[in-house]
Amino acid sequence: MARSLKSIEDASDLRHKSWCIHCSRTLHGRSTNRDHVPSQSLLSRPFPTQLPVVEICTECNVGFSLDEQYFVAFLGAVLSGSTDPELQRSEVAARTLAGNPALQARIEAAKKEYLTLGGETRILWMPDDERIKRVVVKNARGHAYYELGEPMLDDPIFVKAIPLASMTDEEREDFFSLQGISGWPEAGSRLMSRLVTGDDFEDGWIVVQRGHYRYHLDHDGGIRVRAVVAEYLATEVVWD
Ligand SMILES: [Zn+2]
Repeated sequence: MARSLKSIEDASDLRHKSWCIHCSRTLHGRSTNRDHVPSQSLLSRPFPTQLPVVEICTECNVGFSLDEQYFVAFLGAVLSGSTDPELQRSEVAARTLAGNPALQARIEAAKKEYLTLGGETRILWMPDDERIKRVVVKNARGHAYYELGEPMLDDPIFVKAIPLASMTDEEREDFFSLQGISGWPEAGSRLMSRLVTGDDFEDGWIVVQRGHYRYHLDHDGGIRVRAVVAEYLATEVVWD
């Protein structure tokens, strides 16, 4: 009997299905969730079909929710220039800020106004780096696992989250120069299938939803996952 496409798609997952990629504990006998990577809160309706999903333990799923709320609310405030729910472009950011006055106040307090030399008032938002980076690493783990079947259980050696506008020209050039895959990904991996079919690829990036989220994986011994969120924030996570 011919293998169905579904079973080929799942082939690289089967080996590791039994562990949570975030806490390394076995999923057997534990409550689990199908977790979207990236979180749907970073996308906009109507959602694309076939979003990447990985199964993780419920405890991790719940454990990330405050970080994810912070991430989407903070990014929403930065993109709209305000913590006012009414002014948000993102529906989730609007809902989160409206429903959580303490979070709204905390983000408002992180807003710094300053005068440029030309006398213009500008705004800088000071992020809670720990929370932002936890979400960035969570998504990168999900991408590595979903695309390559690799559970990256160790801590990454490098994590970065920086607005594209805050980078120097050289940093931006480096960020967008894609090395591609120098190692040969195994035939059953999703990334390999994508490389063959070109599915969802644009200029070397896997586009989850245009304008909202795209990512790229380098796999040359170590794994490097880069993502661009809202065409504003550049993120990068590297494992040995
Ligand atoms: Zn877990």
